[in-house]
Amino acid sequence: MPAYWNTFQKYRYLIAASGVILAATLALLLMQYRAARRTEAQAQATLLANLDTHLLAIVDEAKRDMVEHADHITHSITQRLVRDRDLPKLARAFTRASRRFPEVRDFFVVFFDKGQDTRNWRAFRYVPPDSNNPATPQYLGVPIGALTEDADLGEALSRAWLTVHNRAEIAVYPAYAPLSLSDSQSHQIFFHPVYEAASMDRQDDLDRVGLIAFTAAAEEYPSPEYLRNLVTRYENLKEGDVGLPGKLGYRIKLDSGNTARDLIATGSASEPQRFRRFEASDYLFPNLAFGVAPSDNSALAYPSEYARSSMLLGLGAAAVSLIGLGLTWRATRREMRVAQLKSDFLASISHELKTPLTAIRAFGDLLHSGRARDADRVREYGGLIKTESDRLTALINNILELSRLERGTRRYRLQEGLLCAAVASTVEVFRHTPEAKGCRIEVELPVPPLKTHFEESAIRQALLNLLSNAAKYSDASDSERIIEVAVIREPAEAVIQVRDFGIGISKSEQCQIFTPFHRAPQPDAQAKGGTGLGLAVVREVARAHGGKVSVESEPGVGATFSLHLPLLTVPEQVTQTHSRTNRHAKYLSN
Ligand code: ADP
Repeated sequence: MPAYWNTFQKYRYLIAASGVILAATLALLLMQYRAARRTEAQAQATLLANLDTHLLAIVDEAKRDMVEHADHITHSITQRLVRDRDLPKLARAFTRASRRFPEVRDFFVVFFDKGQDTRNWRAFRYVPPDSNNPATPQYLGVPIGALTEDADLGEALSRAWLTVHNRAEIAVYPAYAPLSLSDSQSHQIFFHPVYEAASMDRQDDLDRVGLIAFTAAAEEYPSPEYLRNLVTRYENLKEGDVGLPGKLGYRIKLDSGNTARDLIATGSASEPQRFRRFEASDYLFPNLAFGVAPSDNSALAYPSEYARSSMLLGLGAAAVSLIGLGLTWRATRREMRVAQLKSDFLASISHELKTPLTAIRAFGDLLHSGRARDADRVREYGGLIKTESDRLTALINNILELSRLERGTRRYRLQEGLLCAAVASTVEVFRHTPEAKGCRIEVELPVPPLKTHFEESAIRQALLNLLSNAAKYSDASDSERIIEVAVIREPAEAVIQVRDFGIGISKSEQCQIFTPFHRAPQPDAQAKGGTGLGLAVVREVARAHGGKVSVESEPGVGATFSLHLPLLTVPEQVTQTHSRTNRHAKYLSN
């Protein structure tokens, strides 16, 4: 069975749960994204519709104003003069009107048979007076223009008039047409029909007898300021309109296909997305384009502020749930590891307890049965029982120590003392244990001896654990197992070092071996009995003294464990620096 299959089996529920959570998160994210897009599209459509409505109102008002103004201009010409075909007076009326309405380019008057707007059509162009010419006729000292009949113009005007449909109303009619048959360019023309009653007593039955007409250009008509005022009016009006965002930019341009020129440009610097012209049937300035845009077009850009923040929110939520998933993975894996370690521990502790107990029981039985009469035998069995109970005591001490530490009930009583003396006596005790059999233990201590604060029993237990490991994991094939113990004085700490030349520890294991119950999985380490508690106790003791434990090792070469204890107080007589070479006391044994 491949290893990954076993891992999969072990974590299958976790993997399934993670898959479900991941899929749900992705689905939520997708839904969030789609909802944001949909809302966005709707908001944009609404905005564009609002802009269209706004634009429609502006264009409509411009149309009304332009036609009304044309009506106003043509009404300044007394209509009776057209009915009477009184050319001199008409010339005077046009002279007055052209001065009053500089926005008019050319005035025309047309006569035709009563009620027959195509029959006997005669068109006159108003020619403004030439003030430099002394022959120019004057009226009350004012130079007067002239009306000149123009057949070509008449024909062109007649065609323009016929383009106007629904000519039945009494109104001003705009038209957009050339002013001569040879002219390819069209002009904005306003026609105002002049009526005459069919009979003197039937005023309501009116017949057209002629037309007053004029041309104008969008830049000047109705007045150069008109378009700006219109826009300002709508800008102010818009403030109460909730359907439109912030400030709007307005653009009115003269666009004749290949050339475009802005007449009005306010607010937004960007090109409006919505433009509107007069309807074709309006025959009104077809080149005039009205545009409106949100001030920076950002309301129409995607993703907008709303979509962006909603997606960021979604991503944030997804990230949080992924972090949660990661933490759950970690916690679950740790729980499973702890469970695994505990079950390994139970297995190994039963073995560790059973072995000495079996021996104690066997030798106890022998003594009890009285079969060992020989005094040497009795001493030997008693010694073995003592050794095995020492092993049991050490094991139980580690268990108790760790459980007290984990429950937080362990209190250390640090006292000033000579660290070297404590180390030396512990090594001496260890030397006489069966574990130390076949080991040569070398000890190096600094001179003068190091004084520091520590709890002697804790340091002893930690050192015994390190020594016991050094002996246990030293290569058994070696006839003499060497263990080096040293106390080193560093500037701010004392370091107790235990070095062996045994099986060593791989890099990946080095960070794990201090975890309670953890035992290296290599077969040569597993072959030795153990509970995985020794180093955990060493680490806790080091921490309780404000220090730490570290390891340097290479598999097959050996391991060096260092217990670092901070120097809390430095006694007077040892303040001078001692180098490592200062260490002189060397004990050789075994
Ligand atoms: P135990 O020795 O009872 O298994 P420890 O906590 O003392 O538990 O050690 C944990 C693990 O660290 C051991 O199982 C072993 O794999 C490894 N180890 C400890 N000391 C040494 C050493 N001196 N050399 C090699 N491996 C060691």
